[in-house]
Amino acid sequence: MSDCLFCKIIAGEIPSSKVYEDEKCLAFYDIDPQAPTHFLVIPKTHIGSVAEVNEDNAAIVAHIFTVIAQQAKKLGLDSYRVVSNIGDQAGQTVPHLHFHVLSGRDMTWPPG
Ligand code: 5GP
Ligand code: ZN
Repeated sequence: MSDCLFCKIIAGEIPSSKVYEDEKCLAFYDIDPQAPTHFLVIPKTHIGSVAEVNEDNAAIVAHIFTVIAQQAKKLGLDSYRVVSNIGDQAGQTVPHLHFHVLSGRDMTWPPG
């Protein structure tokens, strides 16, 4: 999508600090980190949110979780949280599917 911020990051039109990249997904550090380690993992195809995941596109979600596990291990994270916000009330601000990976501080449950 031409007007999507994360599609522009994928296209290299907006710079990002990359953690990992392959042909299907990109992981990069959040510009406004909410924990000592905070990166995002996104599919290279535009999917609006978890609400748009279906049987036809679900394989990318499994791939992204594989990448999260690999990168967390590589970064030495032994405890971390994976979050995906869906819709305004949950705090989604960028309408391109993304998984936050947060680590390095105590976290509350339930989330605020
Ligand atoms: P959401 O609020 O949709 O769950 O998460 C969007 C995330 O994208 C936020 O944590 C925000 O800080 C991050 N973000 C927004 N714009 C940029 C940007 O231009 N570059 C990077 N690296 N992160 C961004
Ligand atoms: Zn997009």
